[in-house]
Amino acid sequence: MMMQKSTLITSFSFFIISLAQAQSGYWQQRVEYTMHIKMNVMAHQFDGDQKLVYYNNSPDTLSKVYYHLYFNAFQPGSMMDVRSRTISDPDRRIADRISKLNDNEIGYQHITSLKQDGKEVVYKVNGTILEVTLAKPLLPKAKSTFEMKFNAQVPLQVRRSGRDNREGIAFSMTQWYPKIAEYDYQGWHAYQYVAREFHGVWGDFNVSITIDPTFMVAGTGILQHPDKIGFGYEKPGTSVGKETGDITWNFMAKDVIDFAWTADPDYTHDRAQVANGPELHFFYQKNEKTTESWKKMEEIAVKVFQYLNTHFGKYPFDSYSIIQGGDGGMEYPMCTLILGEGSLQGLSGTMAHEVAHSWFQMTLASNESLYAWMDEGAADFASSEAMASLDDKRNPHAGSYGSYFSLVASGLQEPASQHSDHYSTNRAYSTAAYSMGAIFLEQLKYLIGEDNFYKGIRRYYNTWKMKHPNPNDLIRVMEKTSGLQLGWYLRYWINTTKRIDYGFGQLTEKDGASLLDIKRIGDFPMPIDLVVTYKDGSKENYYIPMNELAGSKPDEGNPRIIAETWPWVYPTYTLKVNKNPSEIDSIEIDPSQRMADIDRKNNKLIMAERAPFKDQTK
Ligand SMILES: [Zn+2]
Repeated sequence: MMMQKSTLITSFSFFIISLAQAQSGYWQQRVEYTMHIKMNVMAHQFDGDQKLVYYNNSPDTLSKVYYHLYFNAFQPGSMMDVRSRTISDPDRRIADRISKLNDNEIGYQHITSLKQDGKEVVYKVNGTILEVTLAKPLLPKAKSTFEMKFNAQVPLQVRRSGRDNREGIAFSMTQWYPKIAEYDYQGWHAYQYVAREFHGVWGDFNVSITIDPTFMVAGTGILQHPDKIGFGYEKPGTSVGKETGDITWNFMAKDVIDFAWTADPDYTHDRAQVANGPELHFFYQKNEKTTESWKKMEEIAVKVFQYLNTHFGKYPFDSYSIIQGGDGGMEYPMCTLILGEGSLQGLSGTMAHEVAHSWFQMTLASNESLYAWMDEGAADFASSEAMASLDDKRNPHAGSYGSYFSLVASGLQEPASQHSDHYSTNRAYSTAAYSMGAIFLEQLKYLIGEDNFYKGIRRYYNTWKMKHPNPNDLIRVMEKTSGLQLGWYLRYWINTTKRIDYGFGQLTEKDGASLLDIKRIGDFPMPIDLVVTYKDGSKENYYIPMNELAGSKPDEGNPRIIAETWPWVYPTYTLKVNKNPSEIDSIEIDPSQRMADIDRKNNKLIMAERAPFKDQTK
């Protein structure tokens, strides 16, 4: 009864908050899941009961709803299997492994009963999507309760979810339950599970897992009865009785977009507290490949949380678990599953990336399928800065620029605006999502200045937390914070494959000053930071505004001369430099190297190395 009451109060206050913070016209659906799972650990199967209260906050009447049945992807001939066997650069973790799964190794989720408000509904399964025709249309601002019974087989681990993976984790239970698809202003996002990614409905989860008493369970949410369960969850010093029969673990999570868990008999459970932040839980199998690195990683994880709290906004939950899942890292609400073995450096880098997803996905829940760059790029960006802050590495984003330049050179680049599953190569996807996403933010610093950037990113976080921001929402907050216009930048960087390339033309002397021609060689216009170094060692900074920006960024602490605006249609611009060419030692475009200029060789003019009147672009 208490539980029921507190759920009601939370839903009500959530509604009020949503109204107060809502952007004009913004709405989002809401879910309340209550699930009970009974695991058969020998057969790798489970029976599930799912009660889902679904709130239609949309202005539309819904006659159908869709669920994801992700486990069905792990069957020979599935779209994930065929895609992996036909794409030119398959993910080696998947390759042809799905095609070789036996009947007792495949995954499935079978629905045995489904009712809407007590009435049976008609449904059909198409691959990894369950299409449900409602017994009664769901009106705007109305809710329905769906009651489902299902059984499932956990696939032998291939990617993300599964059992008995190569690091020996018994159950990595991600994408494990029939999950209602998100419906938003773009309609249903009921994508087949081909490879990636996810988009979930905000809501509350109450999950009970009944399992063999030797298994330790870790995952999303807060364990409701730690002193009875033990396994390191109990208050220190509490004595916990040993159970002989199956144990039921009950986890609750509020305002999350998904629920993941793992179970293994050999986990060790450590805890660490972040000052003014969450309690961290670490779950791993202790052995010669993990013991030392996991212990050392704990302190790094605390520092990463502190850095991200300061720079990107406050982590909104009380708890976070870092769990050896036995496959590459994957982010979930309030937890991550990562590979457990390997070097401390690799482990910490993956941990930091997945932790950063707590900001960029588990709080700012962008649609990963459509805008993977918004969460993968931002997570890479934030975690690189957090890790660099620990070891004073000079440029945390150099790797992202390198990957982007290399993709451009390969000829495989595709616009970052594509659906994650529809890139022609995995490489084009990953570079667009991770590297170009990170560069998008670093280059935004270049455009609006570092102070505006961090103010803006925290304002974005606080404005859009627990919602589904899209690219325009991000750029609008940055515009409001900086006073500059940035829509052009979003369109060029994300929707096209246009490239930035600037270089020098002629340098001539006139009335004791220098006239320097700057050439826009690429078809992506940018404002220009430029530094002139004189032979006496002094420097002069210039800033050339570009008219699409409709203004100039602040000076970022370096005095500078603001030159006349460059109307972007002009291929060449002439800058007047105050001193005679004979006094100049060198001139450099973009000395901070935050602009993704694909040819940096022509960005620096060293007077001694060049005939002064030669056009460098010819
Ligand atoms: Zn990621």
